[in-house]
Amino acid sequence: MITVKCLASGSSGNSYAVDDGKSALLLEAGIPAKKILSGYLSILPRVAGCLISHEHQDHAKGADGLAARGIDLYMTSGTFCGIEDRFGKIDHPYRAHVIRAGEQFSLASWIVLPFETKHDTTEPCGYLLYSTVAREKLLFATDTYYIPNLFRSLNIIMVECNYSIPLLDASIRDGRVPEIMKPRLLRSHFGLENVKDFFLANGMQSVRHIYLIHLSDNNADPEQFKREIERSTGKPVTVF
Ligand SMILES: [Zn+2]
Ligand SMILES: [Zn+2]
Repeated sequence: MITVKCLASGSSGNSYAVDDGKSALLLEAGIPAKKILSGYLSILPRVAGCLISHEHQDHAKGADGLAARGIDLYMTSGTFCGIEDRFGKIDHPYRAHVIRAGEQFSLASWIVLPFETKHDTTEPCGYLLYSTVAREKLLFATDTYYIPNLFRSLNIIMVECNYSIPLLDASIRDGRVPEIMKPRLLRSHFGLENVKDFFLANGMQSVRHIYLIHLSDNNADPEQFKREIERSTGKPVTVF
């Protein structure tokens, strides 16, 4: 069985880990590397690498530090260049492995299929992961306003649920979020309405757990999102 861990989720930093008992993958490096390594100490001996979705700092600021401490990084070439533009050259470039959307690869006990996402960065991607040990399929998708692919026989879904339209509108009305930010948010992030549509479009029979990630501080209500998704899917939901 795959287990999912989270050290940080949201616009101040993202760090997750998935573990099938034989090997583990880190997902995102959006907090300092030291914190990532100490946070996942118990699974560190079986960490096979870190997959990064895009170069924004809440996903990538710890990437260089992880490479320096011997963790292999996997990312698209657009994300690699984006990280170097933002944070400077990766000191251990041989640790950075360039991957491409649509090109599946094996990593320890995992088969990894990166897929294209829609975000305001150069070459963002999400990851479809299959554990050959647990024989389970996990979808990881964040920072995207649209997911064009359909996925079959998923067992675990980790998906961004950044905002809901009514809560976003309320934040704008109350002056917590400038109105000018709304179009950018709708064109770069996945909200409650998107999540519901996505679940409707994809077969949910085999899903055993849903993790909602990357909730906004201003425009999201964790309890409400959990309730609504549990009600609409009939599946257990954890909000990170
Ligand atoms: Zn983000
Ligand atoms: Zn982003």
